[in-house]
Order: sequence, then structure tokens, then C-alpha cells
Amino acid sequence: MSRYAYVNGRFVRHGQAAVHIEDRGYQLADGVYEVWAVFDGKLADADGHFTRLWRSLDELRIAHPMGRAALTLVLGEAIRRNKVREGLVYLQVSRGVARRDHAFPDPPVPPAVVITAKSVDRAAAEAKAAKGAGVVTVPETRWSRCDIKSIGLLPNALAKQAARERGAVEAWFVDELGLVTEGASSNAWIVDADGVLRTRDTQANILRGVTRTTLMQVIGEAGLPVSERPFTVAEAKAAKEAFITGAGSLVLPIVSVDGAPVGDGVPGPRATRLRRLYIEKARATAI
Ligand code: PLP
Repeated sequence: MSRYAYVNGRFVRHGQAAVHIEDRGYQLADGVYEVWAVFDGKLADADGHFTRLWRSLDELRIAHPMGRAALTLVLGEAIRRNKVREGLVYLQVSRGVARRDHAFPDPPVPPAVVITAKSVDRAAAEAKAAKGAGVVTVPETRWSRCDIKSIGLLPNALAKQAARERGAVEAWFVDELGLVTEGASSNAWIVDADGVLRTRDTQANILRGVTRTTLMQVIGEAGLPVSERPFTVAEAKAAKEAFITGAGSLVLPIVSVDGAPVGDGVPGPRATRLRRLYIEKARATAI
């Protein structure tokens, strides 16, 4: 099937889509991105992702490439042209194209926008979730502004590769105090020995996951005990359950940490239920 990408104002064939060699995203990782899950051809958790996108842009003083209404239309068109019913839509905004210089272009140039959409096999994802997945731990090596969804993802890419080489799907960053910060592309959770859901607070140097925020609502509605407190690797290994959240993984049960089984070494009832409840809510509220 032909795929299409949106590049700076027009849709082009995915295979021919290209950006300028002096795009600051390409040369300096001077840009931000967002990823929405797509359910039934619609954007999941739309508001949360738009709000975080504007914030990431504002924190880096990159101009908004278009307003929300226009962006919603273009994202919808990317989904439609790529015939995505279930999948992901990716948006990247860089500071634009300018002669290479670390400081911002003066006068400013228009931000550069790329959008792609791809299908996900939900049945295969469900089968993967039913089996659960492993994580490995790696030292936290990222900058101190992980709240910005920057395209500068080299530590995340290295961590993910380390996970793959060790047979795991995700890597958890661990700070100098031995506390898990988050995953390379997800937020990290456990059900601790007392049966309390635990995830790191968003004052810490982590990305404020949109899936995490929606899941907090789901947890509140379900009346489950939850605490926004960090946990150590030892606590994760001794936990009843563990899981990760993100637009790609949704809510994915974690069954091992550095090769040690979590709980019974199979997806736990809490994570399994929360995955179902999250997907129901995200599907029902997608726009
Ligand atoms: N943390 C990191 C580092 C991420 O890259 C992501 C998603 O890509 C997340 C957390 C989860 O965020 P969200 O739930 O908004 O997808």
C-alpha cells in the first residue's frame, strides 16, 4: 500500500519525502515531536498531546506551525491517506531550515513540519500484552529537560538498543539514587508489595506521559490505591506487578526486570485490567 507523509504543507509519497540538509532538526536535534495513538481512525488523548506539544514548542521558543484546528485537520488527513484505522500518527516540528549556526536563526525562519501515520496490528499487540514483556535497566544519562518532548533521543535510542540486545522490549533509566526515572519511550509503574500503584511524580526529570495522565483518571474511577512516588530497581523486582504506559505500548505488563521475574513472571491482574480500561476509555474519547 502507498504511504504518504506530510512535509511542510503538502502530502508526498513516503518514499520520496525529504527534508532540507540544513533543517535544524536534522543537524542539531532542534525540534520536538508528538505521537498520538489512533483508534478507529481517530486521535486518542488528543487534548493531552496538543497541550504538551504547545508546551514543548513554547519551552524551546519554536513558533507554532499552525493552530490546533488546522493541525487536527492535517493529522486527520494523514490518518485517512494512509488508511490507518488502528495505529499511530507522528508529528515533528523543527525550528526550521537555516545556515548552520548553533544560535537561533535571526530573523526567524518558519518551523518545519513532518507528519507520518502507520497502522498497528492490534491483535498482535494484544497477544504481546498477554505474554508480557521484559525491561532492562540502564544508567540515566539524559539532559535535565526530559519534560520537553525533544527529538534529541540518542540516549533513548542507545537504551532501547541495549534492551533489544538483552532480549527485552524496554529500558528503564535509573538515576544516581538508584530510582527508576522512566522508560526510553514510556513511563514506568509497579504495583508495590503493599498493593499500591506507584509511578514517579512529574516534578522529577521525566516526560509527563499523556497515557500516564489518562491512566491516573482510570485508576481514580476504579478506586484503586495509587501513589506518585519513585521506586528502586529492588522494589520493582520485589513488586507484585509492573507495567509501562505510552502512546505506543498503551499499558503493557512487564514480567521481568534485568532477567528477574516480577511477581509470578506473568502479566498481573491489575496491569491486565488497567490495559483494558485504558483502551476502552481512549477509544471512547478519541476524536
Ligand atoms: N517517556 C518517554 C521518554 C517517552 O518517549 C514517552 C513516549 O514516547 C513516554 C514517556 C510516554 O508518553 P505518552 O504516554 O505521552 O506517549
